[in-house]
Amino acid sequence: MKNFIVKKFGGTSVASTEKIKIIAKRIAEDIKRGERPLIVLSAMSGYTDSLIQMADRVFPDYQGEAYDMLLSSGEQVSISLLSMALKKRNIPNKPLLAHQAGIQTSSFFSKACIESIRTEKIKSLFKKNIFPLIAGFQGVTKQNEITTLGRGGSDLTAVALSSALKIKTCEIYTDVRGVFTADPQLVPKARKQKHLSFSEMMEMSYLGSKVLQIRSVEMASKHGINLHVRHAFKKEEGTWITKKKENFMEGSLVSAVAHDLNTLVIKFNKTAEGVGFISELFTKLGKESVFVDIISQSGIGVPARLAFSITKTDLKKSLSVLKKLKLDKNISIIDGVAKISIIGVGMASYSGVAGRFFSVIKKTKARLYLVTTSEIKISAIIDKTSLKKTARALHKEFDL
Ligand code: ASP
Ligand code: MG
Repeated sequence: MKNFIVKKFGGTSVASTEKIKIIAKRIAEDIKRGERPLIVLSAMSGYTDSLIQMADRVFPDYQGEAYDMLLSSGEQVSISLLSMALKKRNIPNKPLLAHQAGIQTSSFFSKACIESIRTEKIKSLFKKNIFPLIAGFQGVTKQNEITTLGRGGSDLTAVALSSALKIKTCEIYTDVRGVFTADPQLVPKARKQKHLSFSEMMEMSYLGSKVLQIRSVEMASKHGINLHVRHAFKKEEGTWITKKKENFMEGSLVSAVAHDLNTLVIKFNKTAEGVGFISELFTKLGKESVFVDIISQSGIGVPARLAFSITKTDLKKSLSVLKKLKLDKNISIIDGVAKISIIGVGMASYSGVAGRFFSVIKKTKARLYLVTTSEIKISAIIDKTSLKKTARALHKEFDL
């Protein structure tokens, strides 16, 4: 569809009524230039967090329809205000909640999947030159219950709408100028990237970059939606994420250094023999939806060695599983760690990257706990105190 474009604004872009007015002005200018935007919004920044805090005060750990109904309310506020700001500028528009826009999901509360989108309503609005404003992050089940799509889920709403309406470009407006070669707060020399492939961006989201929700990148990749991550209050181009050729080198082997502080290691002091024990342990952890990341197992026979990393916020759930299996006396918890990773499609066709990675670790004297690699990344769990110098050294080693 010509000139059609999806524009998703994140929480920081609509953080105050003043900012909402600035965004309305920007959208009005884009429309004047001939663009026909479909707008998707997040809640005002901090809003969803404060709803979660309220829920926790009333019933900690509760999950279900009331929780999703509460959380979805943030986006209702932001689309209403933006709608008013646009109307004041005489831009015809219609704010739509997910159920009005026909965004149907599974009934897995707080992590629902989008199953289908009925696009007639949106199409008929466009035909009448009325611009639709969609509440991100929310959906509705076949049974008419309100659901939410997981934190950061308005990115997913935006990509799913792009795909359902066959709109090839989805702009993601945020408070950074694009996707950087590393977190600029950790590595001051980090640069904005012009272009990344879907698989690089997927790894980056998975490895700790907060810019895009990972499910939205997966969906964009599957449906060939080009993403453009850019600053909401600056006019410059940001970072394009597209299906660039996977061996396209752009001169560099590694395209980014990522890190994640939301991790810790559970190490077994001694373990039972055999695969039975491991299978029982990880099946039970999986049932409790504990996110297990790197697993290291070695030693045939006794004593075998086992350690794995989990998302820090899953510690409570993991300990209760270990307790049920009577394994809680047998473990050490290694906290104060961070995951550091290098990512790049160029790595797949070159050797020697691992050697250079470990030379850097040796130089910075970081304590190394766990390591994992894939075709396009190397990740290591190291002590948190060495994170900054290791990130900077890796950034330099790989000419970023
Ligand atoms: N407001 C939701 C959240 O904070 C969704 C989003 O921002 O994408 O997670
Ligand atoms: Mg977000």
